[in-house]
Amino acid sequence: MTVRQMGIRERAVSLGAILIDHGAPGLNEEERLEMMRRELTSDLFISSTNAVTSEGTLVNVDAYGNRVAAMMFGPRKVIIVAGFNKIVQNEKAAFDRLEQIAGPMNMKRLNRETPCTHDAVCHDCRTVSRGCRAYTILRRKPSYTPMDVLIVGEIMGM
Ligand code: SF4
Repeated sequence: MTVRQMGIRERAVSLGAILIDHGAPGLNEEERLEMMRRELTSDLFISSTNAVTSEGTLVNVDAYGNRVAAMMFGPRKVIIVAGFNKIVQNEKAAFDRLEQIAGPMNMKRLNRETPCTHDAVCHDCRTVSRGCRAYTILRRKPSYTPMDVLIVGEIMGM
């Protein structure tokens, strides 16, 4: 959502980049999955993060695992962009943020049939629609992945 809000995709295309985007409109399920696989070997992967601690740790939750996988290995370079609202004190506060803000807000945005969609509270649900599945903690950048983390002085994303 942060990357979309910033218009990075449109700017990249205008500069001649080949965009690999599983969120592009008009893709069927098979095409979307194929895009996710191609993103894993892209030259540049741009994403936000669900939380970044004051120590510099990135904490994320993902439904399919494609986003967190691409953050860790595969793309030749990774850029993480996050609004300052993603900054939390420590890893515990990061997981609190995932549970209390990012998870419920994402489920509501995607209109998933999960309890948090209705009351904005995490129930650690066991629904088939649960989006909180793959949790990752990056305390240092992965060894073979050049990574920059850019903090934007605005409230962005979820
Ligand atoms: S675990 Fe379930 S209830 Fe909790 S935020 Fe994720 S989808 Fe919602």
